[in-house]
Amino acid sequence: MGGRHSCGTRYVHDAHVEPAGPRHPRAATPVRCLRAPDNTGRDAFELIGLFRSLGTRALTITGGGEPPEYPYLEGVIDRFVQNNIQVGLVTNGIHLDRLSRDTLRRLTWCRISHSDERTFTEEYAQSLEAIVCVAPRVDWAFSYVVTAEPNEEMIRKVVHFADVHGFTHVRLVADLLDYANVDLERMKKKINLRGTNDSKVIYQGRNKPRVGGPCFICFLKPVVAADCKVYTCCGAQYALDPPSRRMPEELCLGSAFDLDKIAERSYYPFPGDICKRCYYSEYNRLLADLFSRVEHVNFV
Ligand code: SF4
Repeated sequence: MGGRHSCGTRYVHDAHVEPAGPRHPRAATPVRCLRAPDNTGRDAFELIGLFRSLGTRALTITGGGEPPEYPYLEGVIDRFVQNNIQVGLVTNGIHLDRLSRDTLRRLTWCRISHSDERTFTEEYAQSLEAIVCVAPRVDWAFSYVVTAEPNEEMIRKVVHFADVHGFTHVRLVADLLDYANVDLERMKKKINLRGTNDSKVIYQGRNKPRVGGPCFICFLKPVVAADCKVYTCCGAQYALDPPSRRMPEELCLGSAFDLDKIAERSYYPFPGDICKRCYYSEYNRLLADLFSRVEHVNFV
């Protein structure tokens, strides 16, 4: 963040990177991916130096394509870690076995996404168990999108697996596009009724989205999408009215290779009032307080 603020120097603390692989139907569209035209993954490797120079300490590799299907993922993770940037991975878990034992162990955390649309077969559970066992120091977690008609049996399987295999948590989160019709309290009662240990479950409803305002989080935690552009937040695809369901140009901050120039602009907040659905208002309010100038600081 820029020097006008009362705390911090200019840096991108935690970035999200979306490598390109086959696209999840509800994820952002990878227009152009982190692969260079010569198909060497050069773009991704070049960005690592830029992140480092900006003081980035941690990075989440997430969707826009399923990360383990990105052919250079292992090299990218290795290089980030060599540059003292911690890496977290968000994945659907299906192709985690494509990553070597060494790469898995380099992750700080890994969150595996599930939903009522997925199955949790015995075969899948066994393959996941094998992966988790080779990297016991990784903080493993599940995130499960609960719909208005939840698949109770599957949720119990996920919660039980997490409990048995020492996961840090299971986030049961209401479907973003239908959160008003998701009853997580009822879900909790049903899980408890059947005797499943839910001590690691975080039941996370959704706050009603608000119209955006001065936005700081986009500079602190920008999203680098698979088209090598920087977007304001991972809610960008739902922020406009109607939701674009892809990363919109209006919320694009520029090319990822200009991240340093984008960080320069963090002297002033991004005008988030064009966002009709912001899920990060509380973060922005907190950041606005942190960055406001305190007069007569000696009396505080
Ligand atoms: S949705 Fe919220 S966090 Fe995202 S760009 Fe708009 S104001 Fe910022």
